This record gives sequence, C-alpha cells and structure tokens, in this order.
Amino acid sequence: IVSDTSGMLYVVATPIGNLDDLSPRATATLIAADLILAEDTRHSGRLLRRLGAGGAILSLHEHNEDQRIADVLQRLQQGQSIALISDAGTPLVSDPGFRLVRAIGEAGHGLVPVPGPCAAIAALSVAGLPSDRFAFEGFVANRAGARRERLQQLAADARTLIFYESPHRIAAFLQDLCAAFGGERRGFVARELTKLHETGYRGTLDELSALARDDPNFSRGELVIVVAGVTSAPAADQADLDATLAVLLEEMPAKQAARVAARLLGIGRNEAYRRTLELKAGKA
Ligand code: SAM
Repeated sequence: IVSDTSGMLYVVATPIGNLDDLSPRATATLIAADLILAEDTRHSGRLLRRLGAGGAILSLHEHNEDQRIADVLQRLQQGQSIALISDAGTPLVSDPGFRLVRAIGEAGHGLVPVPGPCAAIAALSVAGLPSDRFAFEGFVANRAGARRERLQQLAADARTLIFYESPHRIAAFLQDLCAAFGGERRGFVARELTKLHETGYRGTLDELSALARDDPNFSRGELVIVVAGVTSAPAADQADLDATLAVLLEEMPAKQAARVAARLLGIGRNEAYRRTLELKAGKA
C-alpha cells in the first residue's frame, strides 16, 4: 500500500556473484537515489562507483538498524528517494532491513521492491525438487542442540525446504540432516551460484553427506541446500507394505524385515522401519 507522501524506499536486489544480473531498473534506481543504505558501505561502494551512482551512502546493518529508522523516516518525509541494498541478493532475505521496512510501512510511506537475484530462489529453480510449495529456513542455529531440535521439527514437513549454510559447517549440517530426515531423502546443494565455479550436487542426503566429507571442492564457496519434503506412502502402498512386513516379520528380525521390504517395494528404509515398529506395537 503506497501512501501520498512523496518519499520512497526502494528495496533493491543486487547480484549474488555475476554483475550482469543487476537489472536495468535496479541500476536506474540506484543512480537516481538521494541516499543508498548499504549493509557494508565499502563493499557496495565498488558496485555503486562502477554504476556512477552519486547519491550519499550510509550503512544499515544488524547493529545500527534501529538507530537509523528515525533519520530515514525524516528523509522520506522530506521527499527523498532512498534505496536499500545488502551485500548480495535480495535485502531482508537472511539480511538486514525487516525492522526498517516495517517502520516505513507503519508510518505510511511508499515502499517499492526492485526484485532480482536471490540465492534461495536461484537454487530452487534448478534443484529438480517439488517447487509448488516450499519453505525458506535460511541459516539454522549454530549450536548443535538447537540445530538438531529445529531439524527434528522440520522432518515431517511436506514442503521442499531451503537452507543457507557456511562452508565450514556444511559437512556437520548434512550429517544432522541425515539423522533427522533419514539418509534416503533427496536433496540438492548449489555452490557458487552465478559464479565461475558454480556447481550443483544432487542425490540422497546420504550421498551428499559423503561428498561433503570426501570432495574438498564441495565445501568451497557459498552454499544453498534444498531438501525434498517428506512423502507419505499412499494408502495402496501402505497396504502392500503391511502385507510384505507381515510375512517378513515371521522370518526375520524387525530391522532386517524393514530393509528387505524397503528393497522389494522401492521405498525408504526409514519409512519401512517406522511402519515395522508400528506393526510390532500393534498399530493398524
Ligand atoms: N540476501 C541474500 C539472498 O538474497 O540470497 C542472502 C544473504 S545471506 C547473508 C548469504 C548466504 O546466502 C550465503 O552464506 C549462502 O548460503 C547464500 N548465497 C549467497 N550468494 C550465493 C551464491 N552465489 N551461491 C550460493 N549461495 C549463495
């Protein structure tokens, strides 16, 4: 909703690696802005000088966002045109800006998105995983306990999930994903999107986890992890699984029965084992 005040905040997406991804509209907006709010003024200064953008630049980051708000509101009141950018990609997506945008919206000033690159969406667009419903989870907590708890909560989510993770934590993160979601779940890891060493890795979480351990290139550069949502067996498959398990459980222990049933029916071992335990517990 745009108010009748003349000042505007433009939320401008910038490249995530390839400078050619800056749209002509983003360029024009940055050149015309009276003020540019940038996460890191030195980093963005290079891009802005290259464009010939002559407006003032001020920093807006995690630690000073709240203090900036009053000044930005005053400038908008005076009719200034202000652009918000982050170091890369779309501001507010695992980047600062939410509190500023909320304050500007509440004050009734104009807010205009200038859309463009976003690593999460770029990765999703080539992941080959269902994209009709997805959830952006960004960076999961660093602390092992909190991270595992969050992943446990997400394990039953049917939507495709998108994560950001740093290279030095990717191996541990994929291991935690295997533990929480089961190693058979399909995933995709996008590395260095739009850059020289852009690489996509696809496979089961077990396979991706092994790659993270064994391939030194896997954990070089920036990474997005996309994971398929959980799929529950349709009713007919469930009946097949139950019938198969009933026979196998008469002949062998539960774990082995689950493994054989999974191979026979082409389903995940975890899923078969879960159902085995349910059957043994007498659940219909
Ligand atoms: N605002 C950005 C966006 O729109 O994607 C995200 C900023 S967040 C601080 C940085 C994280 O985004 C990186 O650690 C990585 O997970 C992901 N990322 C950013 N650029 C990337 C690229 N070129 N390739 C892969 N992942 C990238």
